[in-house]
Amino acid sequence: MIEVKELCKNYAEVAALSGVSFAIRPGEIIGLLGPNGAGKTTLMKIITGFLHPSSGTARVGGFDVLTETEKVQELIGYLPENAPIYPELTVQSYLKMIAELRRIPEAEQRARIGEAVTAVGLMERLVTPIGALSKGYRQRVGLAQAILHRPRLLILDEPTNGLDPTQIVEVRRLIRTLSKSSTVMVSTHILSEVEATCDRALILIQGELKADAKLSEMAATPQALLTVAKSGQAEAIRTALAGMPGVTRVDMDERADAVMFRVRGDGDGLALCPAIFKLAKTQDWPLWELRHETRTLEAVFNELTSTVGGGR
Ligand code: ATP
Repeated sequence: MIEVKELCKNYAEVAALSGVSFAIRPGEIIGLLGPNGAGKTTLMKIITGFLHPSSGTARVGGFDVLTETEKVQELIGYLPENAPIYPELTVQSYLKMIAELRRIPEAEQRARIGEAVTAVGLMERLVTPIGALSKGYRQRVGLAQAILHRPRLLILDEPTNGLDPTQIVEVRRLIRTLSKSSTVMVSTHILSEVEATCDRALILIQGELKADAKLSEMAATPQALLTVAKSGQAEAIRTALAGMPGVTRVDMDERADAVMFRVRGDGDGLALCPAIFKLAKTQDWPLWELRHETRTLEAVFNELTSTVGGGR
C-alpha cells in the first residue's frame, strides 16, 4: 500500500527526513512514533502528495506521489494535524462541500455522508454548526471527511491531540473500526496510543527511521533484571553475564548502594533467570533481586531517544 525508499527532506539547514525506507502492506495499522520534531508530519505530507521530497521516492497503491499525485490522493483519506475548521458550516454542509471536492456524484452524496457520519457517530450532530461542537466531536468531523470517499489508506496525524481521556478512548475505538476497511497510518508521540491501536510501529527520531517492527515482537523482547549490592564486583559480574551462552546484550546501571544489570538474550529468554541464578550462586554475588521482565514499547522508545538525544 505504501512503499517509501531513501526519502530525504531538507528545510534549509534542517534535515527533517534522512534516508527513510519502509513498506506497508494493505490492512496493517501502523503507528508512526517519534518525539516532537522527529519528522512525522513531514513524512505524512510527502506520502499524501502535499510536500515534495528533496530526494527518494514514495509510492501509494503503486502510484508515484510526485508524478501521479491525483491518483494517490484518490486512494488516501487524510486527517491533518491542524484540520481546517469552518465553524459557520453545519456538519452536513461541510461534508457536502468535501463530497463535491472529492467529486462524489451528486446522486451518491447523501448515502456517502450518511455512511461516514454513522461510522464516526455523528448522526445526531448533522445540522449542528461545527463551531458549536466539542473538540472531540470536531475530530470526528475530521475523520468523517477523511473516510467520505472510502479511501484504501487512512493517514491520521496526531488524531487524539488535545482530546480528553474519554474522547481519546472513543477516537481510538473509531480508528480500530475504520481499520477494518482501510490501511491506517497514525502518527503520534504518545506511546500508549500506538500500543492501544496499532499492529506495527515505525519509530522516527531526528528524521531517521530507528525501528520498524511488529508491536508483538518489539514489546515482547524478554530480559532478566538482576540487582546486586554494590561491592566492587560490578565489572566482573558484567563480564560474566556477557559471557553466558545466548546473552546478546548487558546494560549496567550503578545506583547509590546497588548495581542493576539488564540482560537480554536470544530466543524466548525464559532460560535467562535460572542460568543467572546458578551463576550468582556459584560466584557468590551479593544478590538482591532477580526477575524476568518483558520489555515495553516505552523502554524501546526511551533507549532509542536517549542514544540520539530525543526530539528537536
Ligand atoms: P511534532 O510531533 O512536533 O508535530 P513532527 O515529528 O511532526 O513534530 P515535523 O513537523 O515533520 O516533525 O518537523 C521535522 C523537522 O523539520 C523539525 O525540526 C521542524 O522544525 C522542521 N520543519 C518542519 N516544517 C518546516 C518548515 N516549513 N520550514 C522549516 N523547518 C521545518
